[in-house]
Amino acid sequence: MRNFIKEEAERMKAIFFDTSDYIYNNPELGNEEVKSSKKLIHLLEENDFCIERGVVGRETAFKAVFDSKMPGNNVAFLCEYDALPEVGHGCGHNIIGTSSAAAGIILSKVLNSTGGKVYVIGTPAEETDGAKVEMVNKGVFDDVDVSLMFHPLDKTHESGVSLAMDALEFTFNGKAAHAAAEPEKGINALDGVLQLFSGINALRQHVKSDVRIHGIIKDGGTAPNVVPDKAVARFYVRAKERAYLNEVVKKIKDIAQGAALITGSTVEIVNYEASYDNLVTNQCLSEVFSRNLREVGVTEINEPRKSFGSIDLGNVSHVTPAIHPYVSIGSKSFTAHSKEMADATITEEAHEMMLKGITALALTGYDVLTDKELYKNIRTEFEGHVGAE
Ligand SMILES: [Zn+2]
Ligand SMILES: [Zn+2]
Repeated sequence: MRNFIKEEAERMKAIFFDTSDYIYNNPELGNEEVKSSKKLIHLLEENDFCIERGVVGRETAFKAVFDSKMPGNNVAFLCEYDALPEVGHGCGHNIIGTSSAAAGIILSKVLNSTGGKVYVIGTPAEETDGAKVEMVNKGVFDDVDVSLMFHPLDKTHESGVSLAMDALEFTFNGKAAHAAAEPEKGINALDGVLQLFSGINALRQHVKSDVRIHGIIKDGGTAPNVVPDKAVARFYVRAKERAYLNEVVKKIKDIAQGAALITGSTVEIVNYEASYDNLVTNQCLSEVFSRNLREVGVTEINEPRKSFGSIDLGNVSHVTPAIHPYVSIGSKSFTAHSKEMADATITEEAHEMMLKGITALALTGYDVLTDKELYKNIRTEFEGHVGAE
């Protein structure tokens, strides 16, 4: 059966390469991935998946299922397909969307021997307001037993960790006045923002080293001769663990209240994008994926990446065992979120590497469905994590 999986991947490869290149050529921003999601849905429908569209009220989200109608585990492959402004698919989500759909399709072809279900879940807007967060909260993953995906990059890495993150927006409200003629009548909202920055800078010395706090002034007034009555700052606050991040965020909110008090302004604080949890890699699952990568010829597998951001798969990893490894798409080095990376996703070399990634994903799904001992270990490890939270 393992050979059959490899042969099927090889047989269908032209369709997969074409799908990835099509998404590359039609880059769409988060929640606007109309063409990309349609392309993937079409491919899944052609391969007998049933599709639920518009999941969690997002037009470009979907949940595709192939049901063996026999008892067994439920394996989910997660698609991303949003692009970046200016650089298009500089994060390689054309490969992610294609690979997860492809792995799901290949695995579905052996499901009559394994039982269970294969899900392919289309998750929009990973780069901004990640849909996975809402999907987790609304129960889309409730009947999923493991969640699998890989991210393309210049080097192959085992699945590691990512930072928990909150996106905070602070709106300070004051009172406009002529800045020279009647300054005593004004309340300077921009000063509230400036005090917020200086308070946060003072906090930096007293947080753990894994914390990242980075912000911008989004609105700082309109003219120097008008006291700004409104000023807005946006921050991303990150830490290795959600519990500690919550402590830091509480301190930052207190600083904002202090900044308002100092300046006589008022402040409103909102989370302007979805909050991401830290990624917990399921080591059992990760080892199986690496073993399968080696089996298909990817032998240079590096340790988890040392530097990292935040991903919405983090939230998924707290409700199902999950992995987020990186698979090299070529010998050229590049940085993520660049035009170089976008262009590197459509080379012949990238196609061949993507095919290896697809095959390893499908084989991993097959192992989960057929190896009872393995699934038990994955589950025990997962419950140990959840229990410790
Ligand atoms: Zn990215
Ligand atoms: Zn990405």
